[in-house]
Amino acid sequence: MSEASAVALEAKSPFELRVHLGDAMSDQSVREALATGDMGFLHSYTTGSTVDGPGVRVVAWTTGCMWRCQYCHNPDTWTMTNGLPVSVLKAAEELGKYRHGLKMMSGGFTLSGGEPLMQNRFAAKLLAAAKKMGIHTAVETNGFFSDRLADVELDTIDLVLLGIKTWDPARHLALTGKENGPTLAFARRLAERRRPIWIRFVLVPGLTDDFDDIARIAEFGALLGNVERVEVLPFHQMGRFKWERLGLNYTLRDVAPPTAELAERACDVFRKAGLKAY
Ligand code: SF4
Repeated sequence: MSEASAVALEAKSPFELRVHLGDAMSDQSVREALATGDMGFLHSYTTGSTVDGPGVRVVAWTTGCMWRCQYCHNPDTWTMTNGLPVSVLKAAEELGKYRHGLKMMSGGFTLSGGEPLMQNRFAAKLLAAAKKMGIHTAVETNGFFSDRLADVELDTIDLVLLGIKTWDPARHLALTGKENGPTLAFARRLAERRRPIWIRFVLVPGLTDDFDDIARIAEFGALLGNVERVEVLPFHQMGRFKWERLGLNYTLRDVAPPTAELAERACDVFRKAGLKAY
């Protein structure tokens, strides 16, 4: 990574709009980077997150996502080359600087996105390097490309933050542009391998607040046996400016965040199924 790119990577928040950082790379170089995982594309990273897994964490947000969630608050992460090209060696070296602090704060490293498994080779290499340094590892994913990870690679991930968007297949397709079958299959695979999951569920009034639908997710999660907690994430409008600046059709312009009461009701559905929900 050049000095210039080291400076650019210092974005402290995924909420900053970032585009075209990797445009200088040829299509061939991008393909090679994705195939080998020696190079990845990062939107941003932060060193003090307390909301992306247990303890205090370093979080890196990758670019590239094949879903088009109507409520996505980081649509600038959809395009791979909007991210900054970073070698896996450099990323691991940077992460290594924090390993002692992360241990003291019962934290670790979380790879998020975008969809990190769009860059599955880079993800596998970086997570393995983190694990080798004794750092707790987590991945936030929609699970769609999880079959790109071998079992031995899954074993380098201490926690999966799995986004389950909605249960009903037709509604899921309309909400994200993709089917939810691979997400649910990944959850079952993790259960078989006894790998812990935190379910992440974004609550959007009028879109994902069908309580029968939420109950189906809760029932599914409870049966898995490896779901340690459910995080009900209230929809917000912090990504609206990105949709507008990117010229995308944002359909949730007039949707208000859920009330605290609605969020609590959603948590209760998960709790009634026997899960911890926050
Ligand atoms: S999976 Fe995540 S990054 Fe991809 S569109 Fe949905 S919310 Fe955005």
